[in-house]
Amino acid sequence: MNKIAFIGAGNMNAAIIAGLVKGGFNPKHIIVSNPSAAKRQALQSLHGILQTQSNDEAVAFADAVVLGVKPHLISDVCQQLGQQAELKGKCFISVAAGCTIKQIEQALAQPCTVIRTMANTPAQLGVGVTGIFANPLMSAAEKNFTESLMQSVGIVKWLESEQQIDQITAISGSGPAYFFLFMEAMEKQARAFGFNEQDSREIVQQTAFGAAKMVIENKTSIGTLRENVTSKGGTTQAAISAFSEGGLEQLVSTAMNSALARAKEMA
Ligand code: NAD
Repeated sequence: MNKIAFIGAGNMNAAIIAGLVKGGFNPKHIIVSNPSAAKRQALQSLHGILQTQSNDEAVAFADAVVLGVKPHLISDVCQQLGQQAELKGKCFISVAAGCTIKQIEQALAQPCTVIRTMANTPAQLGVGVTGIFANPLMSAAEKNFTESLMQSVGIVKWLESEQQIDQITAISGSGPAYFFLFMEAMEKQARAFGFNEQDSREIVQQTAFGAAKMVIENKTSIGTLRENVTSKGGTTQAAISAFSEGGLEQLVSTAMNSALARAKEMA
């Protein structure tokens, strides 16, 4: 895997390109295609990569192709590629949510490696989570390449089945919004206590950041970290008891199962 084409110059592909170039990948081995000249030229001037209006030209240049258009466009884009060119030996890596490997294989209509990835929005800041599953044609070299590609925007988890893509969607894909919701509720209560808007936001965001950093940097379980800050009869225990009595754990499970059911419906 030496050269890479990005179909689409949107947010997700831009994040991966930025991560790749930062990690030392030769920008002259990267090409991006997009109908909008402004978008592809912006990435060219930012990173020194190549750009073209033609998806076919981009694919002809590369051995790995990242499909980074909106999900409803994936089939059309792949169908056009499959009709225009010989795709043998190329590896297609989709970042599109909800597009199955089978849909992409059928649209390409040529036997190719197809790798499906499910990243989340924090990938745009290099701190994403990506779940990956591939069809059986994937070689060891393609596996290594895809892993380091997606590691340029965060951590990577290989999945055992394509169904797990729906599960990871319900965990990390939708997950950032779960934390936003919780932080939003805390921010509202801080306002209700009388803190001003800026202080409420800063206090809540730093608390969330600090808690996440403690989880990341400690070897102990998350449960133990929680117990360590929950003194018997103290303020934290009063809050935790209120969460338990309100059925928080069950609610989280119900919410994540609803996300899973919706992901299955949409696939
Ligand atoms: P986006 O709208 O920012 O980017 C899509 C780009 O594709 C646009 O620049 C558009 O001009 C271009 N495009 C449209 N038609 C094209 C064509 N025929 N050929 C080439 N380019 C074409 O969207 P995005 O947020 O980057 O999302 C792209 C994919 O990434 C989606 O499938 C989405 O499900 C997936 N994804 C995004 C995120 C995220 O955080 N943004 C997270 C996970 C998955």
